[in-house]
Amino acid sequence: MNPTIDSSELSRLTASLASALPDAVILPHDESPFKDATQSYWAQQACEAVPACVIQPRNAQELSEAVKILKDEFDATETQSVGDVTRGLFAIRGGGHSPLPGASSINGGVVIDLRRLDEVTPSEDRSSVVIGAGAKWMDVSKVLDAKGLAVVGGRNSAVGVGGLTLGGKNSTLECLHKPSKGLQSMPFTRL
Ligand SMILES: Cc1cc2nc3c(=O)[nH]c(=O)nc-3n(C[C@H](O)[C@H](O)[C@H](O)COP(=O)(O)OP(=O)(O)OC[C@H]3O[C@@H](n4cnc5c(N)ncnc54)[C@H](O)[C@@H]3O)c2cc1C
Repeated sequence: MNPTIDSSELSRLTASLASALPDAVILPHDESPFKDATQSYWAQQACEAVPACVIQPRNAQELSEAVKILKDEFDATETQSVGDVTRGLFAIRGGGHSPLPGASSINGGVVIDLRRLDEVTPSEDRSSVVIGAGAKWMDVSKVLDAKGLAVVGGRNSAVGVGGLTLGGKNSTLECLHKPSKGLQSMPFTRL
């Protein structure tokens, strides 16, 4: 039988995360930000999952620190996802538009919510753009539209760049570009 994380382990994990990342961790008693983080998924089933805490890293260092703590916890408990896909240690949230339960939400575990990593920086030669791991297509459009640039993004601006790049394929510009491995594999978008 695979071990699953118990409530005392989760409390210890949440306490470690909150201590290491006080400005990035949102606990259930932080009512308004916790509600904002957990009730803003596109799918109702994702909104129904209640995590132990949500981490919103503001930079790569904070994200790295969170991942290290989660890895230590994983090594200590050897937690494995079993039967119920919403069980486990953590979930990563981009734009929160996956309809799949447990894809970017989790019951009782930790959500790494990437929304603050929303940098959009076009290169000086206008041939590429650096996009933060938690940006949505609307963030990208706002910056690129102002410069008369376009990218092969999603058709719905609220969808996350990360999730669509990993799992989506359909763009408003698909009539112009039809690569076989998915439109977001085109070189002018770099995550
Ligand atoms: C209303 C609506 C409109 C849509 N329109 C389009 C469309 O025009 N074209 C299209 O191709 N698809 C479209 N989709 C599908 C969409 O691309 C997928 O559902 C996608 O997975 C959503 O990505 P997200 O980041 O918003 O969602 P999330 O639920 O946050 O993430 C989806 C998955 O990707 C993972 N993930 C997200 N970001 C990262 C990251 N930076 N690093 C690691 N893992 C990450 C999450 O862990 C999760 O497993 C649409 C979906 C909806 C609901």
